[in-house]
Amino acid sequence: MSGTLDTIVVGLGAMGSAALAELAARGRRVLGLDRFAPPHGFGSSHGRSRIIREAYFEDPRYVPLVQRAYQRWADLERESGRSLMLRTGGLMIGPSEGALVAGALRSAEAHALPHQRLSAAEARAAYPALSVPEGAVVVREPRAGVLFPEACIAAQLERARRHGAELHCDEPAIAWAAEGEGVEVRTARGRYHATSLVLCAGAWLARLVPELDLPLSVTRQALFWFEPAAHPERFAPERFPIFIWEDEPGRFLYGFPDLGDGVKIARHHEGEATDPDRVRRDVATGEIETMRAALSRCIPDAVGKLRETAVCLYTNTPDQHFVVDLHPEHPQVVIASPCSGHGFKFASALGEVLADLATGGAPEFDLQLFRLERLRAPR
Ligand SMILES: Cc1cc2nc3c(=O)[nH]c(=O)nc-3n(C[C@H](O)[C@H](O)[C@H](O)COP(=O)(O)OP(=O)(O)OC[C@H]3O[C@@H](n4cnc5c(N)ncnc54)[C@H](O)[C@@H]3O)c2cc1C
Repeated sequence: MSGTLDTIVVGLGAMGSAALAELAARGRRVLGLDRFAPPHGFGSSHGRSRIIREAYFEDPRYVPLVQRAYQRWADLERESGRSLMLRTGGLMIGPSEGALVAGALRSAEAHALPHQRLSAAEARAAYPALSVPEGAVVVREPRAGVLFPEACIAAQLERARRHGAELHCDEPAIAWAAEGEGVEVRTARGRYHATSLVLCAGAWLARLVPELDLPLSVTRQALFWFEPAAHPERFAPERFPIFIWEDEPGRFLYGFPDLGDGVKIARHHEGEATDPDRVRRDVATGEIETMRAALSRCIPDAVGKLRETAVCLYTNTPDQHFVVDLHPEHPQVVIASPCSGHGFKFASALGEVLADLATGGAPEFDLQLFRLERLRAPR
């Protein structure tokens, strides 16, 4: 592609592939660059499953966005012919006054979402694999489920290509500069010019905007797949919903049914700080034993043979809400960091939002929660 492009998208993971596909589908001349060849296992979007849920404990303002995301994933599933999503229902388990249960109920009530509140005894009867302690409360939501992240990204990239986008893999953006009202992006292979730029570089994002001094921390998050030790039928996707469990105040365990590769379990947050270019990819025996101990308390039948581990990256803001905004000095540059460990489910809807922002349009969602300004207040 020569001459000036409409938009360059840097980073083609969950968010960038969605933005690239949407821009291309709107008839824009677009180029996507990635440092690897997505979908790949070095960023934030691998590990074969992601939770999608609607009664959003983090803030009710996410609900309209996730509802749009559900629609757009379904559209992409139809268009691509790929299986992208599996509905299993979801359980939010914890103390009634805890952030998880209270937050999920707040969102469910604010948006009149279908949900049920179960006592510990009711939850144990319905889901015998779960040792829900007396006094805990369970919020059950029917629309929650699993997204298959590698397939989602592949489908978004296929959609982008089908609509004429150019993709350059294994070509990291080294730097960008404003050029009048447009931008220039430099890589080892060339210089590209465009009217606008979308930065979706995940764990590497802060390096592309050093002038903003963003307080983003990258953490190493370990994932574990266990073979059920007993009653494997209790972990089948028809019987075992995705869950998040506040097993200690402010601490969250989450997991998935056995999709044929074991029961996948992880801790939300608590990962060690890391540099995305020097991640410790092996999972130590001590980490495995710590996970076994937590699981033995909550889901004892799940703690069989360890089948697999993986390491993935969170890019965290201090308040754990996303960054989706225009560059404060260069409005032709869109900055997106929808992570803090919960962004994947939104990618299909954020693709539209990022495309709107890159073309001077007004997104239909309230993005106040995601403004850069809150992170740049005098520190
Ligand atoms: C273990 C784990 C579990 C999670 N669970 C959930 C969940 O259940 N539900 C949920 O909704 N979310 C979940 N998340 C969060 C979700 O996966 C992330 O929010 C999402 O993947 C972030 O997408 P991204 O596009 O920002 O980053 P990525 O998908 O990592 O994409 C960034 C891309 O930028 C590329 N890149 C970097 N630097 C450059 C450069 N200079 N030039 C060109 N390309 C570059 C990278 O190669 C990469 O492909 C989880 C995350 C992890 C790690």
